[in-house]
Order: sequence, then C-alpha cells, then structure tokens
Amino acid sequence: MLEALRRGLTPQQLCDLTYPQQKETFEKLGISFDIFSRTSKPIHYKTVEEFYRRLWEKGYIYPKEIKQWYCPVDRKVLPDRFVKGSCPVCGAPEQYGEVCEVCGSFYEAFELRDPRCSICGAKPEIVEKTHFFLKLSALTEKVLEYVRPKTYWRKSTYNKTVSWLEREGLRDKDITRDYDWGPPAPFPGAEGQVLYNWVENLLGYISATRDWAEERGEPEAWRRYWFDKETRLYCFIGKDNLFFHTILFPAILIAHGDYILPHNVVVNEFVNLEGQKISTSRGWVVWLHDMLKYYDPDLIRFYALVTAPEGKDTDFRWRDFQLRVNSELIGTFANFIHRVLSFTWNMFGGVVPEARDERDAEAVSGWIGEAAQRVEQHLESCEFRDGIKAVLDLAQQGNRFLNEKEPWRNRENAPSTIYYALRIVNALSVLSYPFLPFTAERTREYLNLPNPPKWSDIHAEIRPGHRIREPKPLFRKLSNEEIEERIAELKATLKT
Ligand SMILES: [Zn+2]
Ligand SMILES: [Zn+2]
Repeated sequence: MLEALRRGLTPQQLCDLTYPQQKETFEKLGISFDIFSRTSKPIHYKTVEEFYRRLWEKGYIYPKEIKQWYCPVDRKVLPDRFVKGSCPVCGAPEQYGEVCEVCGSFYEAFELRDPRCSICGAKPEIVEKTHFFLKLSALTEKVLEYVRPKTYWRKSTYNKTVSWLEREGLRDKDITRDYDWGPPAPFPGAEGQVLYNWVENLLGYISATRDWAEERGEPEAWRRYWFDKETRLYCFIGKDNLFFHTILFPAILIAHGDYILPHNVVVNEFVNLEGQKISTSRGWVVWLHDMLKYYDPDLIRFYALVTAPEGKDTDFRWRDFQLRVNSELIGTFANFIHRVLSFTWNMFGGVVPEARDERDAEAVSGWIGEAAQRVEQHLESCEFRDGIKAVLDLAQQGNRFLNEKEPWRNRENAPSTIYYALRIVNALSVLSYPFLPFTAERTREYLNLPNPPKWSDIHAEIRPGHRIREPKPLFRKLSNEEIEERIAELKATLKT
C-alpha cells in the first residue's frame, strides 16, 4: 500500500504490474507452479470470510476499544508500516509499527516511541477506535503441543519457536484495520474495516488450492489435501516471517479445527549483497529479471543453491559467483559431462561402446547408488545445499575415474571406461534435474535420451550401439571483464 501510494497507484494497480513480472521470472528460472494464485481473487475473499466467521462463532474474536495513531495531514489512521518510530523494547530508531527489525520484538503500532507518519512525516495524533482481537492467549499451550514433536525442523527454527512460546506465550492480536485494501472483516460491528494482512494472507495457501481445484474443474478437490491427516504441508519462507508461519498460522488453524497443520516450515536466513543488507529503496539489489538477461538460469540456480542461507546469513558476491560457477559448476560438473560425451563422439563415432570390465560395473553402480541415496535424503529433509553437493561429488568421482583409466592412452580399455562414464553422465542428468533442470535436459539431449527424466532412470543401462548427438560445451566460463561490469552496474544504482 505504501509503495503504491509512493508511485501514485492503487494497490491493485501495483499488484497488476508486479504479478506478471514475478510469474515470468519464475518461469524463466524453471520454477513451475501448479497454481500461481493471488490473494486479491474472489476465491480468497470467500475463503477468508468463511474461515473468520467460524472463529467468531467459536468465540476466538472479540471487540475492544483501542488507541490508534492518526495523521491529521493525510487524514488516515496509521497502522503497521504507516507509522515509524523507535522500538518500545530496544529503542532502535526508524522501526515500523509492528515488528522491530533490530531486536525482533512484536508490538502494537501504538506502543512506538517518537512516532511519525511514514507518508508525510507529520507527528500523529491519538484516536479511539473499536478493533477486533484474536484470542491468541488461549492458544499458547495448543501451539506448543503441536510444535514440540517437530524436532526434525531446522534447529534454529525449532528453538526460536519453542522458546518464544515458553518464554513469552501469545498475546491477543488486533486483527482489523481501518483501510480498504484486503478482505473485509466479517464481524458484526466491523463494517468498513479489513483484516490485518497476515491473518488473511496465510489463508492464501488454502484459497490457492481452491483456485487450483476450480481451474481443474474439480472444485471440491482441495479438500483432499487440507482435510486429510496424511497430507504433508511444507512452507518455505524467510526468517522475517517465522512467527507468522510457525506460530500464527498453526494457531488460527487449530482455532478453526478442521484443517491440517504445517508438517515443516523451512526457514531460510538472509542473503546479503557484497557484505551489506539488500535494500531495494537504496538500490543495493540485484534483480533476478536483470540477471536473467545475462546468465543461463541454471547459473543463478546453482549459485543460489551453494550459497543458500540454510543455517546462517550468507553473502551474494559477484566475484564469488564467478569463482564457484567456473570452478565447481563448469570445472567439475559440466567439464566431466563434456569430456565423456566428446570422447564418445570422437573416439567411437557417437556410438555407445561395449562394456567389459565387471569390477568397473560394481564400482560405478556403487557411486551412483550412494549419490542417489544422498540426494533423496537431502531433498526429503530440505537440505538443498547438501543435495547439490552430492551431485557435484558424483561428477568429481567421474573425473577421478577418467583420470585413473586414461582412455586417451589406454586404448584397449577405453570402450569399457567410456561405457561406464556414460552411465555416470546419465545418472548426473537425472540427479541434477531438480537443481539444474535446463542443464539436465541439455545433457539428456546430447545423450539422445527422453526428457524430462524419471527418477528411476538414475540406474538405467545405456545400451551399447545407442547413438548420442554431437555435444557442445554446456556453459562458457565467466570472464573477469563481465564480472567487473556487473559490479560497476551495482555501484551505479546505489543511492547515497
Ligand atoms: Zn527493538
Ligand atoms: Zn501523514
């Protein structure tokens, strides 16, 4: 809403601008959605209304007179990000009226010290309003019961959530706002108010499933997921949204009573940029849609994977991007694939040779089996960094195999060596598919094998006599010049 105000647009107009850009960026990165829905759709409003009517009927919502900041210049009540001031807990300046980005405390906007209107900077006045509160205090024990067995969550997520609940417990939360963007609050006496964005947008997961079901022409199909105890709901978020997903979301679902709860909330820490916090307003940012103009999406996916902030904050650095792409993705992974395919093309006219050596068969199956097991296990537990590491390790093993067997010198054994090396290439084309889908598909095109691969293709035999296609290098190395250019571009957009 604030950004729309700054640009002279309505929130709907701003969303209409960003939605297609985000959708296109995801598509270009090879991220596919069963449904890429929007919380401005009627199905979302309907879902929210039904949900909160139930919470009202069950006595989880009550009205209360509260004090609000009001800007006499803009003639607006100032909730959440519409007001700025010092954190009432730690005193940090320039914090919004909801959460302190320095100490992580949550508070009501009214508690801010030295408040100012974030639109015009004026000193706000106090007005009295009737708002509606969610009785979160009644849910602390139930949320704790839900969270305690989740010891398979990432450690810091689990610890932060449990200690939050044990130390502070939950406070009732003001869930209505005096503006007109968002689903209306469906409570008697709440006319003209909408629901606080977090208590309604979390239900977007449900309404998106309903949207998907309607698009399929099976409008009731969403119930199979949300009401079935066997469903495993995974949420992927950044750490600034931890409270909303590990506490607030389960709390409202428990209050409602019919829905399943998240199985895992996979929380990432932050990615910084060249050692500084990313800031779109300061222009200290690398946009994906800009990066995609220069780079293969798999380079971006690769670097995002190897630097994923799974346990602690990490840093995006252009020179590190160059180094890791050149040495690991190209030097280890792509280079092995290209070596094997080129040998096949040049030494055997593109025809898969006959295998002879039984000991190699055993060793190679062992490496492939171990890599597959590691990748499966890491994907299952959402450890994507370790997942890509297992893929790279198999490529490294393949390089060692070639270097030991020396098919370019040891001509007698060369057919057998290349046959088993091709089996490793095939396994890599399947194992890398979830991480680097474009590269995996290109590799399989050179192998002349069908796309997309099935997971069971990992162990597929490649028939001697099968013809491959003429291979080309999968990537080109990143040069110093272009990386210097990227760094210069970044510095040029920084506003001081
Ligand atoms: Zn603070
Ligand atoms: Zn103002």
